[in-house]
Amino acid sequence: MHHETQLSLFDHSSLNQQDQIPANSKIPITPGTYENIEALAKHCNICNRCPLGQTRTHAVVGRGNLRAEIMVIGEAPGKNEDETGLPFVGRSGQLLEKILASVELSTETDIYIANICKCRPPENRVPTSEEAAACKPYLLEQIRLVDPKIILLTGATSVKGLTGDKRPITKIRGEWLEWEGRLCMPIFHPSYLLRNPSKEKGSPKWLMWQDIQKVRDKFDQLKNKNQN
Ligand code: SF4
Repeated sequence: MHHETQLSLFDHSSLNQQDQIPANSKIPITPGTYENIEALAKHCNICNRCPLGQTRTHAVVGRGNLRAEIMVIGEAPGKNEDETGLPFVGRSGQLLEKILASVELSTETDIYIANICKCRPPENRVPTSEEAAACKPYLLEQIRLVDPKIILLTGATSVKGLTGDKRPITKIRGEWLEWEGRLCMPIFHPSYLLRNPSKEKGSPKWLMWQDIQKVRDKFDQLKNKNQN
């Protein structure tokens, strides 16, 4: 058989674009591609748009209320998350739940959690800009489907990954940003708080307490506005 004829047997150009998306980061994922998170998660679990797909156990897409008013966006899965397929389930996750619970917010009712990258970077390194960019269309689809009013961005990688803002988290935490018509609040990543346990005034934990109260206030304001 002629070489070109053999190749043509594997020519996928006749497949519809959605079937090709996971393998090729050059193929855009247009807004509206996914009808629901299940379809998106299925694609993430077979995705090879960046090299992180080759070492994952599970893609970590999200957890929480799919109709939540608040979305928390983390960086990328760690070991526990890669094993379970769920974001923020290790010590950082427990601390995040505690912080949210301190202002009576819960992943069952008010919160949906996602990550900038769906697959675990080796040795828990920070995802590269290329990896974040390859994965971003999935995140944008999640935001479109969940449609949160408030987005909490945990740490500088998360802020940069979504908004492109490269400022250090210490400079921008606690200040509302507007991105694509949504309110975003940069906050410290819970793992940073685990490394800085002091609760003294001015410490990262103390600052997080100020920030999460601002989030609760804004959440109440938006709820009241919708009821009036
Ligand atoms: S990190 Fe995102 S873009 Fe990269 S392989 Fe996983 S799902 Fe695909």
